[in-house]
Amino acid sequence: THKEKVTIVGSGNWGSAIASIAAKNTLRHSKQFDPEVIMWIFEEDYEGKPLSQVINETHENPRYLPGIHLGDNVIAQPNMEEALKDATALIFVLPHQFLRGVLKQLKGKVNENARAVSLIKGVDVQGHMIKTFPALISEELGISCSSLSGANIANEVAQEKFSESTLGVPAPEGFTDDVNHLPDAMLWKPLFDTKTFRINVVPDVEGVGLCGALKNIVAVAAGFVDGLDWGSNAKAAIMRIGMNEVKDFCLEYFPTTQAATFLEESCGIADIITSSLGGRNRQVAEAMVKRGKTFHELEPEMLKGQKLQGPQTALDVHEFLLTKGTKRPNGYPLFEAVWKICYEDAKPETLIDNL
Ligand code: NAD
Ligand code: 13P
Repeated sequence: THKEKVTIVGSGNWGSAIASIAAKNTLRHSKQFDPEVIMWIFEEDYEGKPLSQVINETHENPRYLPGIHLGDNVIAQPNMEEALKDATALIFVLPHQFLRGVLKQLKGKVNENARAVSLIKGVDVQGHMIKTFPALISEELGISCSSLSGANIANEVAQEKFSESTLGVPAPEGFTDDVNHLPDAMLWKPLFDTKTFRINVVPDVEGVGLCGALKNIVAVAAGFVDGLDWGSNAKAAIMRIGMNEVKDFCLEYFPTTQAATFLEESCGIADIITSSLGGRNRQVAEAMVKRGKTFHELEPEMLKGQKLQGPQTALDVHEFLLTKGTKRPNGYPLFEAVWKICYEDAKPETLIDNL
């Protein structure tokens, strides 16, 4: 019988953590999946050797996820064509700014019976057009695409500390049966769900993708609060206001999204909380205030090759709002303040001016 063949497109901090989970589950569900998990890697040098070679020899990604055994059945592959050969289950997990470039390389090389899932937190903005990454992937490659997002700091997930995540899958209009029985849920849930990484399925691909993208702007704002030493009340206020902007933005521009996705699922409120407490966007934003440097200076210094998604997403959303306008009475003042502090040298204290 036909077995699903998994390829991960991306091998950073989250890409490597998810590889370790997928590698356990392909072995656990050996009737459904081929055991081998291919991880396409953007090749680079690591201490004088190609990183792919280091990963294949040590079964660890020392550059982006040190100290975690990925599983002997994870194979790093720098050649895209090789990585895609026979793949039927494609996991996209790259910093969002690189996706369009990678999709260009992929076009025409993907099996037509393949399905995809996006773990990317970001939006794609071209002028007045805004798209989620599952929608872009689906359009560009002509295959169905789900979305996985949640309160998931990669290092904690990789260490098998308890966390939850939300899987958004395509569903026919008016679908009321058990979402776990939808075809894409039956592919992705067994690949990701473990005792310490609990997957809940919702029929809202766009909502799941958007929550993950927009919370990064809120996390930058939370980092500014920490940098300013404004304390816990201020941080809670920023999270609450941010949550409302996320919800209203989704409902205004993506009318099929469901409020329950933001309010009840891990990808909504829970991801805002964890990212505002422990994420990289928060950490770098705090340092911007305390050290008086730009995120452009701090990102390479503090993250050593890992990438921020929050400032770029604030810029994407700002540019979209400029062309599109909003019906929201006060606009999106938190999103706009983050953009202005990151890109226009506005003082961090101005964060609250228009709230
Ligand atoms: P990362 O921040 O570790 O980024 C580094 C990766 O980018 C490396 O694999 C590097 O090879 C790759 N890269 C660099 N230049 C490239 C190029 N020109 N083309 C293609 N790839 C290039 O990546 P990550 O943490 O795996 O994040 C991927 C996505 O997952 C992001 O959208 C992020 O928001 C999301 N996410 C991250 C976490 C987390 O805790 N790290 C958790 C959930 C979701
Ligand atoms: P950062 O990119 O800010 O670390 O957030 C990671 C994340 O998405 C946690 O869910």
